[in-house]
Amino acid sequence: MITIIFGPPGSGKGTQAAIISERFHLPHISTGEILRDEVAAGSELGREVAPIMKGGGLIPDDMMVRVIEHRIAQPDAEPGVLLDGFPRTVPQAEALDGMLERTGREIGVVLFFDVPESELSKRIAHRAEIDHRADDTPEAFIHRMREYEAKTAPVLDYYQGRGTRVEFVNGNAPIEVVTDSILTIFGGNARREMV
Ligand code: AMP
Repeated sequence: MITIIFGPPGSGKGTQAAIISERFHLPHISTGEILRDEVAAGSELGREVAPIMKGGGLIPDDMMVRVIEHRIAQPDAEPGVLLDGFPRTVPQAEALDGMLERTGREIGVVLFFDVPESELSKRIAHRAEIDHRADDTPEAFIHRMREYEAKTAPVLDYYQGRGTRVEFVNGNAPIEVVTDSILTIFGGNARREMV
């Protein structure tokens, strides 16, 4: 099953995706992580995306679609994946639907992490002290939030319009409480598998 972890920057997508991935043995595909690895490796892609990421902008759709197409074609992705940070625009969502259709797969659920903006900026400021991510500066955060509102938030309407299952998760809660609400969404069997 394809699960999409969706929400604004700092909403806890990466944290929850890592927990769920470990317990269900599903690959956690974070496009942000893939890109940060490319930047660290100094690859051609990395050199191209580094300045955009640093400023808090979005990488062009065609590049992101190529990255994800390559990743979900790997054998470990066959039983299902957790997508964290993709799709971030409606054209990316459309491209993903096309890819899945061609391979006979579908999106099981979109988990939307709801967190108020005041809390997001606090979390990003806290993460900046620990992780030293290039895009956790106050300026880049503001840009990321504006990009999120303009280009990413409409993805939710896209899925709702297509009848894809969308579930709201209160992300403004302690980590284990958020995990618990995800398990409830996944249902009773998932809950038993997890313990
Ligand atoms: P994240 O780790 O998901 O917060 O992503 C960090 C940064 O990587 C974003 O601010 C974008 O610059 C870039 N990025 C990650 N995923 C995407 C995507 N699906 N589309 C465009 N840019 C992305």
